[in-house]
Amino acid sequence: MQSSLRIVWIYPDLLSTYGDQGNVLVLEQRARSRGIPVEIVHVRSSDPVPDQGDIYLIGGGEDRPQILGAERLRRDGGLHRAIQRGASLLAVCAGYQIMGSVFGGEEGQPVPGIGLLDISSSRGERRSVGELAAEVDPSLGLPTLTGFENHMGVTALGPGVTPLSRTLIGTGNGDGTEGCFAGKIIGTYLHGPALARNPALADLLLRWAVGPLPQIDDTWYDRLRNERLDAVLKP
Ligand code: GLN
Repeated sequence: MQSSLRIVWIYPDLLSTYGDQGNVLVLEQRARSRGIPVEIVHVRSSDPVPDQGDIYLIGGGEDRPQILGAERLRRDGGLHRAIQRGASLLAVCAGYQIMGSVFGGEEGQPVPGIGLLDISSSRGERRSVGELAAEVDPSLGLPTLTGFENHMGVTALGPGVTPLSRTLIGTGNGDGTEGCFAGKIIGTYLHGPALARNPALADLLLRWAVGPLPQIDDTWYDRLRNERLDAVLKP
């Protein structure tokens, strides 16, 4: 029998704004509907991060929980070991900024990140709030990204990462790009939640973990995508 796909949701008690937990549900649903058994692990910030997971998810949050989350992840080390073993990671907004070398705290002070992505974030001049649409890097073969953003931070990408997408609408990293990827790590500012709006991104994470996947019925996902994309891209 196939062993279960282990999906690890990091720090739901600190970092889970704007329905980011939906990313866990979407991955679970898309795996199960292909007959893949799934085990979901919720790791509270008082608990160690297991290093034997297949896909790790971390969400967005306010400045103070973000700082706490970064400190605990750095002390814990489990996520670093999991990534070294070849696990994948989707990091959203505050979780995305935490993966870099530094991010801006509640007064804009630099706070060290955990260094899994070659990015650095700082506090921008104004809060970016609203719908976002972006064209994904062609190497990933994914359709237009749709989502919702709400952040003060702007993110500079280093040579060790590739922009995930180029923005059509919205701010993203703040330089015309949105998110980034490196190896099996994807970082993004997108809420919505990101994987409900972008099931192809969910399938990319699943393929990295389990290999090729059969098609499934995406009628409801497509309705949501089309409704959101039409709302921002059609004149
Ligand atoms: N506190 C971070 C910022 O404002 C992240 C916000 C979020 O996760 N929504 O940039």
